[in-house]
Amino acid sequence: MSPLTDEQQEILELVRLLTREKIKPRAAEIDASHEFPWDIVELYREHGLFGLLFDEADGGTGTGTLLALMTIEEISKVCATSGLILAVQELGSLGLKLVGSEQQKARFLPKLASGEWLAAYALTEAGSGSDSAAIRTTARRDGDDYVIDGDKRFISNAGVASVYTVFAKTDPAAGHGGITAFVIEAGTPGFEVARLEPKMGIAGSTTGELVFDGARVPVANRLGEEGEGFKIAMRILDRSRPGVAAQALGIAQGATDCALEYARTRETMGQPIAQHQLIAGKLADMETGCAAARGLLYHFGALVDSGAGGAELTKASAMAKLFCSDVAMAVTTEAVQVLGGYGYITEYPVERMMRDAKVTQIYEGTNEIQRLVVAREMLRETRVTPWAAM
Ligand SMILES: Cc1cc2nc3c(=O)[nH]c(=O)nc-3n(C[C@H](O)[C@H](O)[C@H](O)COP(=O)(O)OP(=O)(O)OC[C@H]3O[C@@H](n4cnc5c(N)ncnc54)[C@H](O)[C@@H]3O)c2cc1C
Repeated sequence: MSPLTDEQQEILELVRLLTREKIKPRAAEIDASHEFPWDIVELYREHGLFGLLFDEADGGTGTGTLLALMTIEEISKVCATSGLILAVQELGSLGLKLVGSEQQKARFLPKLASGEWLAAYALTEAGSGSDSAAIRTTARRDGDDYVIDGDKRFISNAGVASVYTVFAKTDPAAGHGGITAFVIEAGTPGFEVARLEPKMGIAGSTTGELVFDGARVPVANRLGEEGEGFKIAMRILDRSRPGVAAQALGIAQGATDCALEYARTRETMGQPIAQHQLIAGKLADMETGCAAARGLLYHFGALVDSGAGGAELTKASAMAKLFCSDVAMAVTTEAVQVLGGYGYITEYPVERMMRDAKVTQIYEGTNEIQRLVVAREMLRETRVTPWAAM
């Protein structure tokens, strides 16, 4: 039974149609050109897909997190870069959604919900990825402004975003308690995108270095209070990581579907390879991995839509991201194997899917970090188990 209402189901059908007719034909070109696909952004704008990420009060559809995740999954079945456009819009907007003041929300969210503006999230630096409390970018208060100095590395949507959620130290001596969050607009004097990184996969998504050299940002652009930035950064990631999980699951299901179609018709030793038990076993494992991953992902979506928060969300988010991305890497590797030599050449999409899958184990917190998060939450829980008195 579908967990969606009739209205949500209709939206998902529209997403499926657009995916089949408009996005699938562009996927290989986007990968080969390494160019940001503005035509896909335009498609999302025309059909209101950015609005799926936002509440009605902020200019969105108010149709919930589960449908937004299903949309990213559906699109990522054919093009991981196009799925990522929605996931990064969510990542870059969540700070405003979660802790923005009414004025900040009114100023930024409607333009993000329509897709007129794209968003980015800038936490990582050259010397601090997993160890995000070690960031060195500083924000010094000067009258009604903050002056930002430092560099950010590996930032998705660099150069295409109009709005960046940026984390900087207002108290460099204070560790994670000294971090503050800001919304910084593209075009702010002293802020530039220094370069874009060539990469293994998600080739159409920009990943770049941001440089702040005396960039002045008004106090009105501070998110929350001074010193709350680390907590805000982590709250955002709790909510955004399932976007990566949805992207990963989409890649995995897309690769499974490709492998199945191929195995039905490719014949060796007088029969379709799907009839060889070693290939049939691979297909079964791929499908089972996707189904299990979907269970974790949709559980997270349903939790958010039911108003859950706190530790329950942290653990569900980390488990979904961890499992969906590990499944994506394993499944896409097997899909290449099922296609044999044809899996390794660019005529078929599975080699691209394998390259695209890898980053889902790395960004928005590596899977090693996700395992630490899940274990930490397990240790914090007070569980009643048959083993309590052991
Ligand atoms: C394509 C791409 C897009 C990205 N987009 C963004 C973005 O939009 N915004 C943003 O802020 N960042 C972004 N990132 C950065 C990404 O989140 C980091 O690369 C990631 O968190 C890992 O940080 P790192 O690269 O510094 O690796 P490191 O932290 O140096 O880790 C190196 C290795 O050590 C492991 N490791 C580190 N610490 C521990 C530990 N305590 N226990 C066990 N293992 C550990 C890691 O898991 C990893 O395997 C992006 C990265 C990529 C590649």
